[in-house]
Amino acid sequence: MALDRRAFLGRAAASLIATQLSSILLSQSETAGHSTLPPWEPGYLYIHHISTGRGSCALLILPDATTMMIDAGSMIKGFDPKSDKFTIEPRPNGSMRPGQWIARYAGEVLSQANRNEIDYFLLTHFHEDHMGAVWPGRYDISPRSQFGPYQLGGVTDVAETIPIRKVIDRCFPDYAYPSPIPGPQFANYHAFIMSLAVRGGVAERFVAGSKEQITLKRAPERYSDFEVRNLASNGNVWTGVGDETKAHFPPLASLKPEDYPPENKCSLAIRLRYGKFSYFSAGDQDHEVRAGRWPWGDIETATARAAGKVQVAVADHHGYADACGSDWVRALQPNAFVINAWDSGHPTIVALHNMLSQDIYPGQRLVFSTATKPETTIAIRRMAELASQEGHVIFRVPPGGNSFEVFVRDSSVPDGKVIAHFGSFQCT
Ligand SMILES: [Zn+2]
Repeated sequence: MALDRRAFLGRAAASLIATQLSSILLSQSETAGHSTLPPWEPGYLYIHHISTGRGSCALLILPDATTMMIDAGSMIKGFDPKSDKFTIEPRPNGSMRPGQWIARYAGEVLSQANRNEIDYFLLTHFHEDHMGAVWPGRYDISPRSQFGPYQLGGVTDVAETIPIRKVIDRCFPDYAYPSPIPGPQFANYHAFIMSLAVRGGVAERFVAGSKEQITLKRAPERYSDFEVRNLASNGNVWTGVGDETKAHFPPLASLKPEDYPPENKCSLAIRLRYGKFSYFSAGDQDHEVRAGRWPWGDIETATARAAGKVQVAVADHHGYADACGSDWVRALQPNAFVINAWDSGHPTIVALHNMLSQDIYPGQRLVFSTATKPETTIAIRRMAELASQEGHVIFRVPPGGNSFEVFVRDSSVPDGKVIAHFGSFQCT
């Protein structure tokens, strides 16, 4: 049992969701917990899942003030009018691009650590809801950068105001696995990568299996119980022995090009550990095997088994129909899931059912979504069991990593306040 301490609800949200949570939480204190998010202090780990309703983004401040962002998605409303009815409205509103909202949020949070730069930007894979979308040639919607020949959206919007020291993706520098990355969105990202050096930044290919690529940069000697293990990318999965990896996908020479591993399956994955606390993030990995045509297709379970049990897991592929399978859940058994939602299919019913299943593993767990399409709460009755359906989801881990708390900040307005607070929970 990992959620073995008191659980507090934020004052503002208590009446709203207390009924929904009563079956999930062990106990609720009469005392309201933190109604504000304490600013970062040395020794703390903060993980902010930033809610824009338009893609994935996590901002991390590590215990020594090293900073990291994982993805900065930004789907453009109106770019594909047929899709708009399925997607979530921009949070807090459409007056700025999602990447600009991310940059604004990040600027505020980073200043708490006296930082104004991102040491590591991890791009899980080359899709717009993770790297950002631009509208080619529409400079009114996607302006040109002042730093290079590319347009602004997602990560490029972030980098326009907050310097990024190192970008790590799955394919630098040749971008050729399993075949050259197609399309104008990637071309825009590539132009950004090529111009990084102008501002003193660098790009690197993610090294699966390593725990030396993403390290504390400012005071690593003080936090020897912190590590980021690179679990997987391009189908190469850490074995658990040293830095070794095993190829989960067959050699490309044995596959027809139409059966090459798709972009989502190539997503990079990490496990972050701080003391007893651990966090899993694997982009849009999935378990689709196409009725046996891809017997190697279940990359998400292989990656989750490499990670082992964790406290917090980001739902693979936004909790979509091809992800968060029962084997994935069984391998991770987290105390909290986070769904980065931007579509009515985030999550789908089976994925959510797996996350909540007492048959797969017993005990309490909290499921958070950064945003929710109203129709999803009708289509999926169990959405009522979520700890929170809306807002920035923030994990706060005190020095030593023996416990964690969860805060939810209102994302319907800029600079939203804390609307719910959970924990503290002991890590076991
Ligand atoms: Zn995605």
